Amino acid sequence: MTKNENSASCAFCGKPKNEVAILVAGLDAHICEMCIEQAHHIIREEFDTKKKNKTKSYSPPKDLNPHKIKAHLDEYIIGQDDAKRCLAVAVYNHYKRLQSSVGIDDVEIEKSNVIFIGQTGTGKTLMARTIARILNVPFAIVDATVFTEAGYVGEDVESMLSRLLQVCDYDVSAAQKGIIYIDEIDKIARKSDNPSITRDVSGEGVQQALLKMLEGAEVSVPPQGGRKHPEQKLVTVNTQNILFICGGAFDGIEKVIAKRINSQVIGYNNQKEHVDRENLLSYITHQDIKGFGLIPELVGRLPVLAHLEPLNKETLIAILTKPKNALVRQYKKIFEQENCKLEFTDEALEYVAIKALEFKLGARGLRSMLEAILIDEMFEMPSGSKESKSLIVDLDYVHSKVEKSKFTKLKAA
Ligand code: ADP
Repeated sequence: MTKNENSASCAFCGKPKNEVAILVAGLDAHICEMCIEQAHHIIREEFDTKKKNKTKSYSPPKDLNPHKIKAHLDEYIIGQDDAKRCLAVAVYNHYKRLQSSVGIDDVEIEKSNVIFIGQTGTGKTLMARTIARILNVPFAIVDATVFTEAGYVGEDVESMLSRLLQVCDYDVSAAQKGIIYIDEIDKIARKSDNPSITRDVSGEGVQQALLKMLEGAEVSVPPQGGRKHPEQKLVTVNTQNILFICGGAFDGIEKVIAKRINSQVIGYNNQKEHVDRENLLSYITHQDIKGFGLIPELVGRLPVLAHLEPLNKETLIAILTKPKNALVRQYKKIFEQENCKLEFTDEALEYVAIKALEFKLGARGLRSMLEAILIDEMFEMPSGSKESKSLIVDLDYVHSKVEKSKFTKLKAA
């Protein structure tokens, strides 16, 4: 060690070498371990604040109208025109309401929460997800089946707000203007007409708790969610401006609708309106949902009711190819990245749609079918070769792959 090094001191705090544990030498200066630690703290804090400031900012676009909203929905969702129109108007009015304040006329526009009814895989969730994207607001999906009354195994209804807060990095004001999609709302229907026979902890009790939230209330929410962290500091969220979209298949509601329609026509024998028995869902009213077991107060808080049509072969083919992020486009992109041009013949797509219908998989099954059809190729393709290839998926190709896949077992089941 040279004499010079012995007399070295920290260039930041000035402490000499013998008073510190480590002195790191630079080109013509030194720094001690304590100053390094302090600098590390400063850097961390600086990075954290930068990260916080960079969090996504949420604000709905200014120039929306129902036509524009529907046009956006059309880009991602095939068919379901009635539901799209209902949603476009509901959402437009909802955001109008946010911009208007109660004036001297004391007219306050009420919230238009939405309820979608339609078979599974018809696009209910997709509709809610797409609208949240268009509006650029926080969006959370929750499943009503996990909710139970407070004190029972399950989750409190309030946990849906924790989910929303998590999505927007705990930005309470953004969450208060967000959208929550409650899936499987039909599963919390009252189990029996007489609630006193057995305790119905996941049914009517949950509906009551949900009602408070849909009406608009100040709710104390544990930010981490759940009942497992009782020590958490609660955050207050006002649900007044949160748009709730509920969805459910309401299996068997056709019977309730048919019963109502039949009883209505009695007495009007000679003027019976033609009723399309194949599509009873299109006649659904709030009264039917009550008949299914949702309490009237809750039904009243879901003023916008829309039904989604069952998907047919043509719609399924369109779902495969038309939307902005259609499945066929997605797979083409995956193959393109491996230098392979992927093409599907019309017959092949038709076969996939027919099989999806046959196996009762709906649109949800289209993806798993394409995955099964293309899995071998996707396994073999990434060989690292730069040579460009092409794959034409025709009827024979699809047929052989589907026959080989586990889907055929579905048919046997
Ligand atoms: P649901 O909530 O009604 O059970 P989803 O919205 O989750 O159904 O739909 C499942 C998948 O099926 C979606 O991810 C989407 O790819 C596809 N899908 C369903 N319906 C449509 C539709 N009308 N247009 C485009 N894609 C659809």
